[in-house]
Amino acid sequence: MTDATYIRGGVRKRRLIVLTGPTAAGKGTVEGALRERHPNIWLSVSATTRAPRPGEFNGIHYWFLDEEEFNRRVKNGEFLETALVHGMAHYGTLLQPVLDHIEQNIPTLLEIDLQGARRVKQEASRLGLDVVYVFIAPPSFEELKRRLIGRGTETPEQQAKRLETAKVEMAAAGEFDVVIVNDDVNHAANELWDVIAKEYDL
Ligand code: 5GP
Repeated sequence: MTDATYIRGGVRKRRLIVLTGPTAAGKGTVEGALRERHPNIWLSVSATTRAPRPGEFNGIHYWFLDEEEFNRRVKNGEFLETALVHGMAHYGTLLQPVLDHIEQNIPTLLEIDLQGARRVKQEASRLGLDVVYVFIAPPSFEELKRRLIGRGTETPEQQAKRLETAKVEMAAAGEFDVVIVNDDVNHAANELWDVIAKEYDL
């Protein structure tokens, strides 16, 4: 056992932080604000079969893989979890980089959808991972709708799919250890930092 596993008052594993929230709840903005202040946080780079949006880069925002390569990695057991999101594209968290960062005591964050968070719950004990589940909620469904339509990055059909998924996801907030309402980005980022700082004794 390394020193990193000792925390004030006892022995505890470092916890992986899993961040989930419906589309347009502002997860990305909150993470951005958080990492600006605390660049030591590592956000896992997921793999996806969806096409890059303008301004997205391979290895930075996602690992953009075709279906064949994604499936090869699934068969190879390289993912901690995978999910088909909005019924449109596959997404997955690569396991090894997550384990490596936790091992190095680097605050490690996954930003994944509800299905993914549930899969992590199923897998965590087998993998010896201790996880804290954080839900980022929009102030209201109306506000979420306004943000989604306002950002204009999806077609009306994609927006409708995302709103459907968002309804289901918002109903699941009770499954999470911590719920952060994103009514103000800086406030939400501070709340998220408090969770991380507690877990990593920072
Ligand atoms: P976007 O296409 O807007 O980047 O992401 C769509 C959704 O996929 C978001 O809700 C995001 O949290 C989720 N997502 C991104 N990466 C992963 C992942 O590795 N696993 C899972 N399950 N969901 C992911």
